Amino acid sequence: MLKRFRLEEPETVKETSELLARYGESARIYAGGTELLLAMKEGLIHYERLVNIKKIPILDEVRVNDGAIHIGALSTHRRLAGSQLLRERLPAFAQMEENVANIRVREVGTIGGNLSFAEPHADPGTLLLALGAKLVAEKATGKREIPIERFFVGAYETCLEQDEVLTGIGVPVPPARSGVVYLKFGYLERPSVGLGLLLAFDNDGKSIADARVAVGCVGPAPKRIEEAEALLKGKSVRDASQAAGKAGEIAGRASEAISDLHGSQEYKEHIVQVLLSRAFQQASEQHASAGKGRGGSHG
Ligand SMILES: Cc1cc2nc3c(=O)[nH]c(=O)nc-3n(C[C@H](O)[C@H](O)[C@H](O)COP(=O)(O)OP(=O)(O)OC[C@H]3O[C@@H](n4cnc5c(N)ncnc54)[C@H](O)[C@@H]3O)c2cc1C
Repeated sequence: MLKRFRLEEPETVKETSELLARYGESARIYAGGTELLLAMKEGLIHYERLVNIKKIPILDEVRVNDGAIHIGALSTHRRLAGSQLLRERLPAFAQMEENVANIRVREVGTIGGNLSFAEPHADPGTLLLALGAKLVAEKATGKREIPIERFFVGAYETCLEQDEVLTGIGVPVPPARSGVVYLKFGYLERPSVGLGLLLAFDNDGKSIADARVAVGCVGPAPKRIEEAEALLKGKSVRDASQAAGKAGEIAGRASEAISDLHGSQEYKEHIVQVLLSRAFQQASEQHASAGKGRGGSHG
């Protein structure tokens, strides 16, 4: 049963941060409440004060500016799945959002809550890692940008300070000649393995100019796998395609998978390998079909 708590309703980020600073560990931000209220109902945690941030304006905007897509932390999964801007500029992200949880959770659960809770079996962090996103955290005294590589510290743990509010996410618009894919696998309520891949192609479309590989859900926090990226970068598309299986094997081993209810370490490592090979194929196809749209032909 849910124990009594007091609801604070600030209208600005500054006010929110001041409340969090004043009440310390007895207060927590409350956005969609899909994680927080569940854990409180089950008696796993209790806070005397919940600070409802849903009344703060503009935190649910999605806009593009200076080569980056800016996503307000209060944007719900449902809103992001249906965002026209994301569907046009970053379809893999909209698609990933469409497959988060179930309609009830997507309707109220926010991207900011998802990232801040740092539940290991989550999707957005992994894709954002592959995309090189930066998170914006604000408090009463200022604002800072956090590269996503530094945001997740461990399971249920981020680098956010107690009085900081995650206000937005900046995602660099992927290069014109690129493919972005997020694949996940699982049979429980939450995903068991997630993999994000960004492949950037050179101008003639025949080789891989850059690759970013991120694996999530298998361990405490999403992880970028540079050893796997190195096997793909600078290679012709054909050679990189042949190396994708090996890159997947390396990604699996480097992912720090742990055995749990979702499967054994070896099983998860194998799934990572399979997903990377598939993601490589899909990212290449994405790029090739975009090339046809541009009137070119790409290998
Ligand atoms: C049944 C179920 C299935 C799910 N399946 C998936 C899935 O398939 N994939 C997936 O990725 N996720 C999944 N989730 C997780 C879901 O995405 C999150 O529950 C949701 O996004 C959390 O957002 P919220 O706004 O409800 O957060 P809340 O519950 O309101 O908050 C969660 C935590 O984040 C903190 N917080 C919230 N917003 C901020 C902020 N802006 N700044 C700082 N701290 C903040 C809160 O203090 C709290 O500690 C699932 C959840 C459920 C219940």
